Amino acid sequence: MEKRALEEIELLNYPSKTHWIPERKTSLGEHIFDVAIVGAGQTGITLAFSLQREKVNNIIIFDEKEAGMEGPWLTHARMDKLLTPKASLGPDCDIPSLTARAWYQAKYGKEAWELLEFIPRVDWAEYLQWLKKVLHLPIVNETKVGAIRWCEKDNCFILPTHSKGISQNVYARKIILATGIEGSGEWKIPLQVKKNIPKEYYIHTSENINFEKFSGKKIAILGGGPNAFDNALLCSEHNAQEVHMFIRRAKLPNRHVFLWGAFVGFLKHYPDLSDANKWQFMTKLNEIGIAPAKSSVVKARTRKNLQIHFDSPWLDAKMINGKPTVVTPHTTESFDALIIATGWSIDLNLREELKELVDKIALWGDKFTPPQGQQQNNHVLLRAPYLGKGSTFMEKIPGHAPYISYIFNATGGDLLSSGFSAGNGIIGMKYGVKAIIYELTRQLFVEDRDYFFESLGSYNDILFEN
Ligand SMILES: Cc1cc2nc3c(=O)[nH]c(=O)nc-3n(C[C@H](O)[C@H](O)[C@H](O)COP(=O)(O)OP(=O)(O)OC[C@H]3O[C@@H](n4cnc5c(N)ncnc54)[C@H](O)[C@@H]3O)c2cc1C
Repeated sequence: MEKRALEEIELLNYPSKTHWIPERKTSLGEHIFDVAIVGAGQTGITLAFSLQREKVNNIIIFDEKEAGMEGPWLTHARMDKLLTPKASLGPDCDIPSLTARAWYQAKYGKEAWELLEFIPRVDWAEYLQWLKKVLHLPIVNETKVGAIRWCEKDNCFILPTHSKGISQNVYARKIILATGIEGSGEWKIPLQVKKNIPKEYYIHTSENINFEKFSGKKIAILGGGPNAFDNALLCSEHNAQEVHMFIRRAKLPNRHVFLWGAFVGFLKHYPDLSDANKWQFMTKLNEIGIAPAKSSVVKARTRKNLQIHFDSPWLDAKMINGKPTVVTPHTTESFDALIIATGWSIDLNLREELKELVDKIALWGDKFTPPQGQQQNNHVLLRAPYLGKGSTFMEKIPGHAPYISYIFNATGGDLLSSGFSAGNGIIGMKYGVKAIIYELTRQLFVEDRDYFFESLGSYNDILFEN
């Protein structure tokens, strides 16, 4: 199948002219990449392969994790199966033999695919690794990208990279941030927990968790999303004495809104909506919430050591008699440990990569005033980056930092601006990645239009003598 995939790539190899972008160097003669991608998870590698198909080959991808461990799949994603429809496309970049289905059928047979409801998480991780192997992408692992700066003189970005004690600058014209669903902020931990509870008593689901140590213990979990259920079930399976899930809502969201959105119009043309319409859709989406997997809810309901408390936000958290204690509208209760499953927050100020640039980046709060009465409940959305076509950052003050639109935000923070797109899940990858690539190659062509015009004048591939 690998051979067939390479043949399919070859069959679709048009235009075949490679290296269409003029090479650049800094004033000191350093190499400038056309594109640097930060993050080699599914989004980073899909964008890299898509760029290669457009003959943008002068690229580099960095990931701070070791090879094979990028993204959440083999660490803090703890569900058995993906929540996404198995037929979703994206990382294949329209090459049939690179689809998850082709891979799965080659490994387990066609019948196994027919019987499959959702793709197992571990298979998805293996499929992504297989793609990387087949595509030979220029990934540099165990390398963290620090605070990116713009260099006016050389007309490019400077990316400080750090790897095993060695720091080095890399130069690039365009940057794609593919730093994950939390990549426009960080994993969210309530302030009272951070402030009042010593770290050894609480853990976020994005961390490494040793569930064995919860055996015989009383555990509280904050959150009611898919991830909260996965972690609660693992505590229960590891013989926690009591597992208590605290959920803010009065009942569980029971609709998978991402499935509602899986149609061409929404996936492809959400970015074409007005700001007011985008706001309308995303606030509604937030209101409906994300349903946990049906199988998780069914399992949780049968577990004797697991209790679900609705209408129970944590109003406070504090240490009482040496135990972490949470206060809800209904109770004040102490536990042996707290698990925080409240997802991620959006706040570009928290990103090291953007430290030098953040004050130049437009946010929704700079550009949009929500309808009356909607400000309070949705203030978090106003911190989202206000992205242009292809998920580019936009200038906070027009004309002050035009280079800011050379950075593409393919993280979970792109949801309000770009809809279900590359950085927030598999469902929207098929269209989200194309939108980024379109804008990126557009920039690369238009910026060098004089060079291309000159090359037309000096084009000398003579077919016959006159
Ligand atoms: C627990 C969990 C379950 C999910 N389940 C599903 C699901 O079932 N279906 C679905 O469609 N989506 C799901 N998602 C959402 C989404 O598909 C995943 O988050 C997916 O991993 C996003 O891919 P990505 O490549 O954008 O980011 P990631 O896979 O998170 O990769 C980002 C990479 O960037 C690297 N990185 C970050 N900062 C730097 C830096 N400064 N320098 C170098 N490297 C850096 C990280 O090391 C990481 O490897 C889930 C997400 C989570 C967290």
